[in-house]
Amino acid sequence: DAKRDATKNVTLFDPILLYARQMRTKLVSELRTAIDAGQLALYYQPVVDMATGRIKGVEALVRWNHPTRGLVMPDEFIPLAEESGAIVDLGRWVLRTGVAQLHSWAKSVQLSADFTLRVNISVTELQRLEFVDEVRDVLSNWSVSPSQLVLELTESTLVTGTESERYSLLGLRQLGVGLDIDDFGTGYSSLNYLRNLPVDVVKVDRSLIGNVVEDASQRRFVAAILELIQSCGMDVVFEGVETKEQAQVLRSLGCSTGQGFFFARPAPPAQLESILRAAAEGSFLPIGVSF
Ligand code: C2E
Ligand code: MG
Ligand code: MG
Ligand code: MG
Repeated sequence: DAKRDATKNVTLFDPILLYARQMRTKLVSELRTAIDAGQLALYYQPVVDMATGRIKGVEALVRWNHPTRGLVMPDEFIPLAEESGAIVDLGRWVLRTGVAQLHSWAKSVQLSADFTLRVNISVTELQRLEFVDEVRDVLSNWSVSPSQLVLELTESTLVTGTESERYSLLGLRQLGVGLDIDDFGTGYSSLNYLRNLPVDVVKVDRSLIGNVVEDASQRRFVAAILELIQSCGMDVVFEGVETKEQAQVLRSLGCSTGQGFFFARPAPPAQLESILRAAAEGSFLPIGVSF
């Protein structure tokens, strides 16, 4: 129709859009070389048992050390990687690097047997039929038990529920890998759909807990969500815990697992190793905190 044609003309001749498109193309091609050039890095953030202060595991979060732009955050390039297909190579690099790191930590620091590494994966990776085999190979290469790996999938990307996704989810589950729904509360999947997914843990998005301390109605809302998830037989992890008060409120509502700047920011492996070492000696919790 006419409206569409009009938009078409605008996009064709708008120099700003043309420029934006060129930048995008440039970034995509840079991203493809970034993996081989060793410009990607994994940061790790502890996942904490808020009742005891014990570190239950870490989440791997990718960063891009861009030669001219500096440290680029994943929200800026993961969507691009997904659209361009580069996410498959990127995801493979993340999985290998994370699992290799866990293997190395298992030797250098004292980790509990149920310590887990959480890795974010994109639905594009999940839809590949080879995915489960690749995960199995990486784990066996590094002698890491499948139960020590948890894959995180964002709620909003899972709503399609295709056959290939289901195939991979069941394969991963059979392998013994843990599955999380990430960013719960930001998507729009039906609760019934969530209930039928083969996942063990729901990570509640930080946008839901922002003012849980000040706002009683927000607190009731979070309490209801907690109960709902738990009544589906799943565990809850709260993301974005930034203050002691938030941690205490969440605990009082019956949620024992949290992750956030209050406990520790995502950090490079060496820094995380000192945290893990301190935790093994019982001195990890932020100063002044007693649970
Ligand atoms: P996510 O998986 O939900 O990861 C949590 C994000 O929240 C991280 O952002 C983390 O730095 C941030 N965060 C943690 N605690 C706090 C807090 O207390 N306050 C605030 N304001 N933020 C907190 P980051 O590292 O920028 O990652 C953003 C997203 O990029 C991730 O969200 C995940 O969806 C995606 N991502 C990161 N690494 C990978 C990866 O290797 N593969 C894929 N497919 N996606 C990734
Ligand atoms: Mg995540
Ligand atoms: Mg999240
Ligand atoms: Mg996210």
